[in-house]
Amino acid sequence: MPDAGRNRRHAIVRGLDIPRPFDLAVFAAGLEARRGRAIRLRPFSPGPGVPCGLWIAAADTDYVYYEQATTPFHVTVIVLHEIAHMLLGHRGTAAWQNLAAQVMPGLDPSLVQVILGRSAYAMPEERDAETLASLILEQATALPVTAASRPARGAGGQTVPG
Ligand SMILES: [Zn+2]
Repeated sequence: MPDAGRNRRHAIVRGLDIPRPFDLAVFAAGLEARRGRAIRLRPFSPGPGVPCGLWIAAADTDYVYYEQATTPFHVTVIVLHEIAHMLLGHRGTAAWQNLAAQVMPGLDPSLVQVILGRSAYAMPEERDAETLASLILEQATALPVTAASRPARGAGGQTVPG
């Protein structure tokens, strides 16, 4: 069976405006314009049992929470993983619903359309999101750039368990 998931991921990446060198804020702003939904990146300190990244889709805004006590590169990996879930159209699972109230106490639970945590890599959707996130990072770092702005190597293709 052909790998439809792989083709789909590559099609998604081809349709993205990926800033080079990579800039998360610029990338997120481009996605906002394209999807017509606001994206808010929010640092947080996940407690026990809470994943290092979280996507909460409210009515017209996507909130991406990321572990703040980590390196900028890991933050990028966490956020891209959650954005990959958005791009892949993944749906949330009830398992994470209670986290929304913990992370965003002021949020009306009925506004939460999707909530996904970055964990449980055995789930196919998690692997899919992680692979797409890596692909986006590869595009950001592996393509030719002008000699003057060539980024340091060593960040590409690496996944960090979360
Ligand atoms: Zn995930």
